[in-house]
Amino acid sequence: MAKVKKINYCRLCKSKNLEKVLDFGKTPTANSFLKKSQLRDKEDFFPLAVNFCKNCGQLQLSHVVSPEIMFRHYVWVSSTSPVTVKHFEEYAKSVFNNLLLKKGDLVVEMGSNDGVLLKPFKKLGMRVLGVDPARNVAKRATKEGIPTLPHFFNTKVAKQIAKKYGRGKVIAANNVFAHINDLDEIVKAVGELLDKDGAFVIEAPYNIDLVEKNLFDIVYHEHLSYLAIKPLDKFFVNHGMQIFDVVKKDVHGGSVRVYVKFKEAKYKVKGSVKKFIDLEKKKKLFNIDTYRRFARKIEENKIKLSKLLRKLKKEKKSIAGYGAPAKSTTLLHYFNLGTENLDFIADDSPYKQGLFTPGKHIPVISPKEIYTKNPDYLLILAWNFADSVMKMHEKYKKAGGKFIIPVPSPTIYD
Ligand SMILES: [Zn+2]
Repeated sequence: MAKVKKINYCRLCKSKNLEKVLDFGKTPTANSFLKKSQLRDKEDFFPLAVNFCKNCGQLQLSHVVSPEIMFRHYVWVSSTSPVTVKHFEEYAKSVFNNLLLKKGDLVVEMGSNDGVLLKPFKKLGMRVLGVDPARNVAKRATKEGIPTLPHFFNTKVAKQIAKKYGRGKVIAANNVFAHINDLDEIVKAVGELLDKDGAFVIEAPYNIDLVEKNLFDIVYHEHLSYLAIKPLDKFFVNHGMQIFDVVKKDVHGGSVRVYVKFKEAKYKVKGSVKKFIDLEKKKKLFNIDTYRRFARKIEENKIKLSKLLRKLKKEKKSIAGYGAPAKSTTLLHYFNLGTENLDFIADDSPYKQGLFTPGKHIPVISPKEIYTKNPDYLLILAWNFADSVMKMHEKYKKAGGKFIIPVPSPTIYD
């Protein structure tokens, strides 16, 4: 396919009754950090805008960047984060208990990364198989004992797996379902591989949190859909399946774990499904005004932050950033922050240190260097982790350094 494609229909209900509610202009893909030798090369910038479906209420990106560009070589390796590891250990245990799984049952995960979820499933005695298009990551996972096919998950791959390994009791999709453009194809593929009494388990950021906590920076090209239970359940019902349980999770600023089954499967539909749908209606999640208000709020945020940074620069203060997660690419572009505002960004991941941020080319260095460069201000770009960042770097504050948390309204901590 072309590098980028405009989508003029809803990914869930196929309606063309869409309205643009957020527009971030053109940005590079969120994970395309650059080596020094690449700084002079031409970078690709793609439209980043969010449409609201007036028919089913689904929120989604207006353009899709080729998955070959985004997912074939992925930098993010899940097991480097202890919080992530703990989250997936709990995940495996609760799915195991909730579905009354037996040892030897097959668990297949699409977008399995380095096997961070499949490892605890394996410990519980399950047979596991990962599918992940990032060849470098798939190879490493296989070497570490989690067999992983280096493919995109689709009908063809699902049929091959079913033939070789049998049907899966669990098919998991963590932070990957919302990354997929053709959701009909995914459900078809799940149909080829899932046991008749199995469960398709999706985990993804939840729309209510996006709006209420101002998580606008989780909008980037990888995240094509922003999930709510009501439109999602309708989509599955149209495909002969249905949601039978929903659990709220704290990861990524607020996510939902959604259990889906074939209509005839043995699991009873739990009260949680109706509870979430009622909450979404109460929060006016399917009213376009909710998103217009949201857009105004982040625009005001941008104006306030620009004003503050301009003032500090006028006073000849030095400012650096803290944290270069994928979502910082959206934040830096939307707030228009570059090397003229930020001298560098400190990030804990050794994979990112030594690289430059996509589009804005701000150098990413080790947090140790905060103490040699001593910037007057540290703007916390990973602002949802602000508390732990400030705790970890109390020494910086004690030495006179100041933190700025940029969202929802810029605030200085000294
Ligand atoms: Zn729709």
